[in-house]
Amino acid sequence: MNNMVLKGLIFDIKKFAVHDGPGIRTTVFFKGCPMDCWWCHNPESHSTEPQTITQEIFSGSSSKACFERKELIGREISLDTLVEEIMKDKVFYDISQGGVSFSGGEPLMQSEFLLLLLKKMKELGLHTVVDTSGCGNSAIVREVSDYVDLFLYDLKIVDEEKHEKYTGKSNSIIKQNLKMITDNGHKVIIRIPIIPTINDNPNDIKQFGEFLSDLNIVRVELLPFHKIGEEKYRKLNKINRMKDIQKPTKKDMISIKERLEKFGLVVKIEE
Ligand code: SF4
Repeated sequence: MNNMVLKGLIFDIKKFAVHDGPGIRTTVFFKGCPMDCWWCHNPESHSTEPQTITQEIFSGSSSKACFERKELIGREISLDTLVEEIMKDKVFYDISQGGVSFSGGEPLMQSEFLLLLLKKMKELGLHTVVDTSGCGNSAIVREVSDYVDLFLYDLKIVDEEKHEKYTGKSNSIIKQNLKMITDNGHKVIIRIPIIPTINDNPNDIKQFGEFLSDLNIVRVELLPFHKIGEEKYRKLNKINRMKDIQKPTKKDMISIKERLEKFGLVVKIEE
């Protein structure tokens, strides 16, 4: 396919990102995700189509909206335009050993676009990160992995049945893909969202420890559940299944970290 006409669907580009891999980065958020995690803080990423949301704006104590604001989520972008946008900050990547990160949604869902983009980034000498749930075709994951310097690989729950209940998908392919890329020597940081009452009981943590200690990974990062996505659920008119769940305490996070370290894993708590 001609690169000039190939387009991807994205919903955000974050400049000066410092939490999506080493150094200063540009993070591109792909729209579309095959999963439906109960705690997802990017519900606007799920649909594979652009969406328009309407927000009613109220004035003072009036219960009647004084105007409506429309917001378009998701836009098509050509490969060349996106490459140009990413390269604007090359000087910052160079001074900080940073680069570009592809996140989502699930970037593997737009595999053709992702692959061409990664190849282009490597031609231009950029460090590449793919932040993925690993929920994708294994042949695609294998092909893409040749152009990825670091995977941020999200693992939500080890038990297959429980995973399906809370994410809408089995984790069998996710675990297989993870094993494949680590066996092939790719650099992988595992990210586990810690979701109170869903994946934080001692048995869940033991299953994470047992599964991950057999793999060659850089480290595990624990991401405490937070409620910053709540407003997005309201705007999208989507049911927020986590509204009664509170953030884990610092003490809870430290206890989970210590339990995982007993399996010989290097563990870090992210903010
Ligand atoms: S995989 Fe990530 S983007 Fe997709 S639903 Fe789950 S948390 Fe959201």
